[in-house]
Amino acid sequence: MAENESTQNSVPPPLQVAKRLEKFKTTIFTQMSSLAIKHSAINLGQGFPNFDGPDFVKEAAIQAIRDGKNQYARGCGVPELNLAVAERFKKDTNLVVDPEKEVTVTSGCTEAIAATMLGLVNPGDEVIIFAPFYDSYEATLSMAGAVTKSITLRPPTFSAPIDELRSLVSKSTRAILLNTPHNPTGKMFTREELDAIASLCIEHDVLVFSDEVYDKLAFEMDHISIASLPGMYERTVTLNSLGKTFSLTGWKIGWAIAPPHLTWGVRQAHSFLTFATATPLQHAAVAALQAPESYFEELRRDYLAKKSILVEGLESVGFKVFPSSGTYFVVVDHTLFGQENDVAFCEYLIKEVGVVAIPTSVFYLNPEEGKNLVRFTFCKDEQTLRSAVERMKEKLIIKKH
Ligand code: GLN
Repeated sequence: MAENESTQNSVPPPLQVAKRLEKFKTTIFTQMSSLAIKHSAINLGQGFPNFDGPDFVKEAAIQAIRDGKNQYARGCGVPELNLAVAERFKKDTNLVVDPEKEVTVTSGCTEAIAATMLGLVNPGDEVIIFAPFYDSYEATLSMAGAVTKSITLRPPTFSAPIDELRSLVSKSTRAILLNTPHNPTGKMFTREELDAIASLCIEHDVLVFSDEVYDKLAFEMDHISIASLPGMYERTVTLNSLGKTFSLTGWKIGWAIAPPHLTWGVRQAHSFLTFATATPLQHAAVAALQAPESYFEELRRDYLAKKSILVEGLESVGFKVFPSSGTYFVVVDHTLFGQENDVAFCEYLIKEVGVVAIPTSVFYLNPEEGKNLVRFTFCKDEQTLRSAVERMKEKLIIKKH
């Protein structure tokens, strides 16, 4: 028997994965988006716009490719982009940073997060994250060998339980990972909460890694970067990206801003993760970040209109919708519809109703805490949002009162 015949019918070898990634499954976003395609369901799950980014940014990318900007970029970012990031940060926070020494361009914020964890956290260090949390935090902390501790933001307000946070901070705490505006809840950290977190960090010499990718989608209050609080810049890595603000999530252009002594660690990790990020897209990102303020105002206005359609629609279906101040997400309580938990509800929603949402239990260390909550996104055109609401109105039946 030929060798390939003998192996063809045998059982495939078991999947292998290093221990540091053993507990993680296929990401919920990947799972839900492929189910959306399989069931022709309307995808209000994974947060990517179903409309395109602005022409002036796309044209700048095409021009950069035509101009031959196609070889490796400088590892820490093309100088023009480092400068544009620093200028944008100055406009947003009033902080003046050195584009050459304090800005690192990465392949999306997800890489910036990984580079920050791997470059600045030692095995055994504790890092505190707020649950529900974006799934890559826990996975990259595990890759860094860190001990993940979590503090739960609870509905309906998702306000930060500062006393619990205080009791969790110890000599082993290396950093607190902040995300504001917060995915998935839409919560924005208030000045008082940030002040309290800042004073804890200063008192205990703890760093802050602050994921602010939704900073331009702040609806109910002004976004505050914790780096701008007194004494905080020197202990903060501010993480951001192009994807959400310019509806270009597939470009994967992100950055980390930090004082030189912290930038060193981030850059060391980044050098060996991806080394550099797509050159022509970095040049186009310069054009994006130099957009007039009217671009950002219009973005907010458009998203506010989408948000109203989705929130009012979900309420008319019968969901309890929790207030969301920023991001393009809202979280709802699904329990009136009689499904056992968030995963069962989302399965039912895809198969019987034709709409995709994200179950939130995967965003907690203890999945039980998320079993009543699911997340919907409104980064879709208005017709798509209306059709999703129509489907839910037609097919979802309240089972409990
Ligand atoms: N940040 C996006 C969301 O929360 C998804 C990113 C991803 O697919 N990994 O939906």
